[in-house]
Amino acid sequence: VSRFEGITMAPPDPILGVSEAFKADNHELKLNLGVGAYRTEELQPYVLDVVKKADKLLLEKGENREYLPIEGLAAFNKVTAELLFGADNPVIKQQRVATVQGLSGTGSLRLAAALIERYFRGAKVLISSPTWGNHKNIFNDARVPWSEYRYYDPKTVGLDFEGMIADIKAAPKGSFILLHGCAHNPTGIDPTPEQWEIIADVIQEKNHVPFFDIAYQGFASGSLDADAASVRMFVARGMEVIAAQSYSKNLGLYAERIGAINVVCSSPEAAARVKSQLKRIARPMYSNPPVHGARIVADIVGDSTLFNEWNAEMEMMAGRIKNVRHKLFDSLSSKDKSGKDWSFVLKQIGMFSFTGLNKAQCDNMTNKWHVYMTKDGRISLAGLSLAKCEYLADAIIDSYH
Ligand code: PMP
Repeated sequence: VSRFEGITMAPPDPILGVSEAFKADNHELKLNLGVGAYRTEELQPYVLDVVKKADKLLLEKGENREYLPIEGLAAFNKVTAELLFGADNPVIKQQRVATVQGLSGTGSLRLAAALIERYFRGAKVLISSPTWGNHKNIFNDARVPWSEYRYYDPKTVGLDFEGMIADIKAAPKGSFILLHGCAHNPTGIDPTPEQWEIIADVIQEKNHVPFFDIAYQGFASGSLDADAASVRMFVARGMEVIAAQSYSKNLGLYAERIGAINVVCSSPEAAARVKSQLKRIARPMYSNPPVHGARIVADIVGDSTLFNEWNAEMEMMAGRIKNVRHKLFDSLSSKDKSGKDWSFVLKQIGMFSFTGLNKAQCDNMTNKWHVYMTKDGRISLAGLSLAKCEYLADAIIDSYH
């Protein structure tokens, strides 16, 4: 009898499990709107031209494969903080940012979670309801207590701003407030600039720590600066801020696992100490991060021609998603005779649209229409083409009514 008899079968991952079910379906009209990965209009995975160029240059340079330091590639850490906060942000000049290269967004969040567990024992992290499914796993595995703040209002398929503010106010002083820097996942609903200011007021009042997860910088609007505005506003107020970054979407480097954790501190001494502890957490987990993605990011940002090309490709990707969003809205509005207001689709931003479909309706989407999506009603518009919008609209209307 196996020594592993006592180990039970784990449930499939609610997001990545959708792709597995999609693969097993042979229907010709099937559509995978589960995982958030960019596709071309032909629904094929996309490698950015600028990444291909950077790869070629890297190959020519023939750099060695020695270990990186625990904190990652220095040139990457420099540019990643500059991209997020702005190159001339005083916090960078004053050396008040502790930046450590992480295993993409997920691994970077996990490092911050471990830091909270060690140095803020008992403090809670507040996450939005709903949020990206992996947030709960990350904090659970790091043994960090979390609770939810209201975010989504099903009545308007919009932001429950009053509920959000009330819940952040009600949290114990010194809590960590997890915020999506832009393009909230799964809802696609972001606060307005005015609402961001009020959120910052409340966080400041309560001495909470803003903890940004920014996985879509440049991918939401097409502009790196515009998408980082929320983070920069908090930093400009002199607040201490945690921010986890990912290059999965904006550079299409999903499998390279490249991202970073940044902790903006009140003094350079505190930043140095925080960085030393982040390294101490990383060392027994994975020793040091992979080099390839870090070199790609550093080389692209460090070369003005490549950097401009990257920005153009980001605009192109964000633009394709916006076009699909409009076409889906038009299809829904013209096909649906019930008088339902679909304008929420247009108000959302980024890769996802929250349809408001409940679990049974999502099951109908998959079982009857072969549309694969997460059961929370989220669809990835990046997995949709203009040609498939009408079919998807039919599926959504049928499932709603
Ligand atoms: N945070 C959010 C909100 C995300 O949507 C994602 C990607 N789905 C991530 C973090 C991290 O992704 P990765 O680990 O690939 O960078």
